[in-house]
Amino acid sequence: MRCIYCRRPGTIFVQNLGGYVCDEHFKRYFLKRVRRVLRRVRRGSSILVGVSGGKDSIAALHSVHTLAEEFNLKVGAAMIYSPVSEECREVFDQVTQDLGVERILINVEDWGIRIPRENPYLACVVCGVVTRYLLNRYAVENGYDYVATGHNLDDMAYFALNNLITHSLQYLYHQFDSVTPPMPEYRMAGKVKPLFWVSDMDSLNYVRLMGLRSCNTKCPHEGRDKQAFIKPLLNQIRERWPSSLVNLVTSVRELARRAAPPERKVNLCERCGYPTSGRVCAFCRLREKLGVIT
Ligand SMILES: [Zn+2]
Ligand SMILES: [Zn+2]
Repeated sequence: MRCIYCRRPGTIFVQNLGGYVCDEHFKRYFLKRVRRVLRRVRRGSSILVGVSGGKDSIAALHSVHTLAEEFNLKVGAAMIYSPVSEECREVFDQVTQDLGVERILINVEDWGIRIPRENPYLACVVCGVVTRYLLNRYAVENGYDYVATGHNLDDMAYFALNNLITHSLQYLYHQFDSVTPPMPEYRMAGKVKPLFWVSDMDSLNYVRLMGLRSCNTKCPHEGRDKQAFIKPLLNQIRERWPSSLVNLVTSVRELARRAAPPERKVNLCERCGYPTSGRVCAFCRLREKLGVIT
């Protein structure tokens, strides 16, 4: 097996290229794809990376930090923890210390929220709402322009297909992109997905190659949900046609952009003053349902 770029021995298989590359060319391949995303971020901005400690968020934080100077970006890291595993907390402390970035720890219990682990389906919903809300809120309150997350190409391909088969076009119109701009008038940070063009396996290989620590963030629900069914199918397609997931994501994004209504309806939540499409945001409604007294 030879590197498809330099013909030296290939060490890492890149699914989206359908071939092997050497360590050096893997690094170049990976950072080139992260650059493709960062190029769309306004220069001089600050990015708060949401870090769970899993391989994707570690790869996102490390690669953005590596390219920060080139794109004139300030980088910080935030971890949201419900009783998080010790290991993930250690990974977070170590990586933020090694990189010398500002760190923000967000305890969901300070917000009166307990993740209902006894109900895995509800736990995923709560976890999703809480993570999105608190990352945005802490970013805005700490002067960050963007929030970055570790979603990779495999996640995006899954979102694309899932939103099509459930006919959920709103998400595709406004959020299905590697970068969405900040809307400070709505207290909404922009969103950046540095790993938008790299696969799940690529991010694992990056973390290994760079000698970074990561922790297992698998939730109890994982393996039983829809993703666990759809992602292997997408992988089978890519095994035959290596560029197919890149093309799926590109096509859906292009169609969504063309079809998107020009105005995005955003209100400020009546309770907390953060953005929502309705009157009260999902986070405030959730707290109400969970019986949190404010
Ligand atoms: Zn090479
Ligand atoms: Zn609210």
